Amino acid sequence: MNNKNIGILYIVPTPIGNIQDISDRALNILKTVHLIIAENTKYTNNLLKILKIKNTIISFHKYNENNQTQKIISLLKTKTIALVSNAGTPVINDPGYELVHTCHKENITVIPIPGPCAAITALSASGLSSNTFYYAGFIPKKKNTRINFLKKIKNKQTTVILYESCHRIIHTLNDITNILGSKRKIVFAKEITKKWEKIKYGTSIQILTWLQKDPCRQKGEITLLIKHKKKKKKIISSKIKKTLHLLIKYLSMKKSIELISKIFKIKKNDLYKYTINQFQHDKK
Ligand code: SAM
Repeated sequence: MNNKNIGILYIVPTPIGNIQDISDRALNILKTVHLIIAENTKYTNNLLKILKIKNTIISFHKYNENNQTQKIISLLKTKTIALVSNAGTPVINDPGYELVHTCHKENITVIPIPGPCAAITALSASGLSSNTFYYAGFIPKKKNTRINFLKKIKNKQTTVILYESCHRIIHTLNDITNILGSKRKIVFAKEITKKWEKIKYGTSIQILTWLQKDPCRQKGEITLLIKHKKKKKKIISSKIKKTLHLLIKYLSMKKSIELISKIFKIKKNDLYKYTINQFQHDKK
């Protein structure tokens, strides 16, 4: 590391199972920074051993994040530091948010290194729509909070990505089946990049039954994805259409739509969309 690089915080993702997923750039940074700050020093020590890297590691976990942040900010005045978590991308449901936020406030450069992340890796293989998605992190543990959470996401029109523990997966799938419906499509992605990797697509009840058949299937690290809810097309009845067409002969489009909207309790926007489409169709 030369002086030009002093005062940089690197966010360095590590493999979520397969050691070969560490990038050359990540390796190089872990070798050359002055210091590595890690969620679990023992865990990172093992990782560095496997990667044949020698470097200083200090502890940075969610219980000491607040205390450690100021200490690390002062270290960053003269040093370059890499932040790692146990697996995957730091900060994403892992410690580091407070530190990164403070770095920006203190004008300290933060450089993210792209790499493994369970949520994004699972999404890429899910076959669910992926241009927009809702990443919700860990699903709430408490029954009532979980049920309220599921009610909130029930009608989301984007893919929902969740982390869940193997100890609660059956309860969660039962709740998903009850609240989102047994036919709701989901993707169960477990042990990604590892020996027992399994990515299974099906309805919530199919996945639940499959998991219950063999408790071994429930083991391991799990990412769950829920298919988006399709937007229901607003159907305008033929009676409404006829009335609208009739009114438009005598009144302006605006007035006709206002009246129909009031009488039939239909959103003006939907009536505008229909009328404009109709005009364009008639012109052709
Ligand atoms: N920061 C990490 C990342 O970028 O993937 C996520 C950390 S979060 C504390 C850990 C959770 O991610 C696990 O409990 C599990 O739900 C999910 N996860 C981690 N590794 C996984 C894997 N190999 N396969 C499926 N899900 C995984």
